[in-house]
Amino acid sequence: MTHPTEWKGSYYDGQSVVPQHVTISVTAVGLSLHFASHRTTTWNYHELRQTQGRYSGEEVRFERGTGIGETLVIPSPNILIAIHEHGGSHAGHFYHPATRRARVYWTVLAALTSLPIVYGIFTWGIPSLAQPITAAIPISWEIQLGQFVQQEVTAGKPVCQNPKLIHAVESILTAMTNSIDQLPYQFQVTVVDSPVVNAMAAPGGYIMVFRGLLQDTASPEEFAGVLAHEIQHVLLRHTMHLIVRHVSMAFVVAALSGDASGMVAYALQAAQTLQTLSYSRDAEDQADEQGLQLLQRSRINPEGMITFFAKLGKEQPANGVLGYLSTHPATQDRLAHLKSLLPPVSTTYRAFPFQSEWSDIKTYCE
Ligand SMILES: [Zn+2]
Repeated sequence: MTHPTEWKGSYYDGQSVVPQHVTISVTAVGLSLHFASHRTTTWNYHELRQTQGRYSGEEVRFERGTGIGETLVIPSPNILIAIHEHGGSHAGHFYHPATRRARVYWTVLAALTSLPIVYGIFTWGIPSLAQPITAAIPISWEIQLGQFVQQEVTAGKPVCQNPKLIHAVESILTAMTNSIDQLPYQFQVTVVDSPVVNAMAAPGGYIMVFRGLLQDTASPEEFAGVLAHEIQHVLLRHTMHLIVRHVSMAFVVAALSGDASGMVAYALQAAQTLQTLSYSRDAEDQADEQGLQLLQRSRINPEGMITFFAKLGKEQPANGVLGYLSTHPATQDRLAHLKSLLPPVSTTYRAFPFQSEWSDIKTYCE
């Protein structure tokens, strides 16, 4: 049986959320990407990670590189059949698409597992079922929603684009994401040019830090502390959970079925929820604890996280805007708990190449 060997897909360069259209051909050694600009490049099979396309109806997603790497999204799962036909032994580590029969089985199973959730929504309401609903939402849907939420939150606001600043922020982010196994999201940090002292994470790994908060940090470690905390809100799916708890039934049904039509309208609802509501105390504790562990695994001094939160607690809010402090109160309990998690013996931590320039770099946005 022969299959087509050319496929349409979207390429993301890891810097921008704007996709580039590509035509992909499947060869013996890898995927050849043909861009509209006539540029052609090859992604060898051994460099690729398949992060989506295991379930019926799910688009196929390949990633390359570490940290904020490059991503290729191909709507047709049949490309996996072609890879297995042409890719020889290299293709062995990609998921082999199910046979037609197995796909029917998965579809039926998916329908059956979501039925009790839909029944439960009507009986007990969405908030009490937010946990299982959140767990059942496809990651691909969450990522798409996150992109729209980010666009919604940053709409009309300038974004910091100084290359030195962006490089420093990405180095700190990559130091942490590199120490996470099986990263389900491609994390991105956007620094919004606004004096507000705030930071927030949208679903799917889209973190937004406002300039006011960045400029309040005294070191890369303090900034890393906030990022580590926000990364954990995403990985633990707190962001998605908060949105699910407070949105409409139509949103939940669309999310469960993976229906992306009308995503923009849901994004508006989701963005408002994230900007006006807080996570539970338990969620905050979890993000603190696992954020601190992430810093240690990444060889970043975790004391920066504690000094920053302590400093935030002492600050007088500018113009009465509480920002990050209103959602992350620096209570004595919280600080004491974080301190109790520090390792008892002194450890050697990494120094960033821009360590001594931080006080300058953090102002480069202006
Ligand atoms: Zn938090």
